[in-house]
Amino acid sequence: SFLPTALGKDGPAVLGVMGGGQLGRMFAHAAQAMGYQVAVLEPSQVSPAGQVAERLISRAYTDPEGLAELAQTCVAITTEFENVPADSMAWLGERTFVAPAASCVSIAQDRILEKRFFVECAPTSGVMPAPHKTIASHADIDAIADDLLPGILKTVRMGYDGKGQVRVRTREDVRAAFDAMKGVTCLLEKMLPLAYEVSVLTARGHDGASVVYPIAENVHRDGILFTTTVPGPNVSDACAKQAQDAARAIVAQLGYVGVLCIEFFVLQDGTLVVNEMAPRPHNSGHYTIDACVTSQFAQQVRAMARLPLGDVRQHSPAVMLNILGDVWFEGDSETPREPAWDRVLALPGANLHLYGKDDPRRARKMGHITFVAPTLEEAQASLREACAILG
Ligand code: ADP
Ligand code: MG
Repeated sequence: SFLPTALGKDGPAVLGVMGGGQLGRMFAHAAQAMGYQVAVLEPSQVSPAGQVAERLISRAYTDPEGLAELAQTCVAITTEFENVPADSMAWLGERTFVAPAASCVSIAQDRILEKRFFVECAPTSGVMPAPHKTIASHADIDAIADDLLPGILKTVRMGYDGKGQVRVRTREDVRAAFDAMKGVTCLLEKMLPLAYEVSVLTARGHDGASVVYPIAENVHRDGILFTTTVPGPNVSDACAKQAQDAARAIVAQLGYVGVLCIEFFVLQDGTLVVNEMAPRPHNSGHYTIDACVTSQFAQQVRAMARLPLGDVRQHSPAVMLNILGDVWFEGDSETPREPAWDRVLALPGANLHLYGKDDPRRARKMGHITFVAPTLEEAQASLREACAILG
């Protein structure tokens, strides 16, 4: 293991992160709290993680010199974003300990590989993805089975927060949407009757031991995560167990090391459907910072440093509210304003996390608030008041 020792002649062990976003920043905080230093490879001069890391390597994610410097500096390296070039992760993995492995990242980056992998897992996971078909040509569109429509056409790569997705009712819609995406390969998914959405955060160590966090219930607005509630008000014990068992099977079959989050749909008839996975800590796991013994970021540090995984026990009911750039504007106008943090922070159980971004834009993730309370009802009451204040 890579212990957080200060006695090494080269000073404290350094953990590396590909990417400078908020997930890297919160990872750095957790690593530093355990005595590690952090190096970030991120092209932007100013970034949420770059601001707090001991070392910032301001180079492209594919830059050979930047990658070499990261590999030389770090005892272990991870990524904080899904679309990190997998070749860079593979190159680093030949030189130092990298978690998650490039092979796992590649699957999660490609909706076709991801869906195929979920189908392969079904015998042990007990869950299937939505019915789907690859759309790479107009001939594929002609061959769409009637029962795949209405559906959602998603780009195979680079989609996130609902971007790169179009809802389609007819073959004509598919054709128009496919052409509008300039012919990049897409996946058509059948539109399913969702009752609600959940995610399961897991972590697996290099020794194969794994942990599964409590199931989280997620509400999205305009394709972006709005709130995460744990325990989920709609989630039955049977559903929670099924999703957690499925997550355990999936992470084991992947041979994954590190923190992985798996998103599921729960249909109106109660069927659990696996949607996608993120090879990193996840927005729906931010509540673990304030409500669990081991946060998802501390867990990532442990997995990377090959230390024992931490206790995933949740000690308080929690509701997480994402803070988007919208709250820096008056209503729907362009008039800037400062959010009333003093009023939000006066609410019971409030924990404010801001990511150090100085340019609030609508739909941009600027921070989050987690409300923890003795009961879920109290946490939800604070959430409602916060929404009214931030409006
Ligand atoms: P992203 O990578 O943008 O998160 P997702 O596949 O998770 O892409 O889709 C974003 C959201 O769109 C989901 O959280 C869900 O609300 C909705 N959605 C996606 N696929 C389906 C589907 N097959 N049926 C119904 N709703 C869906
Ligand atoms: Mg998603």
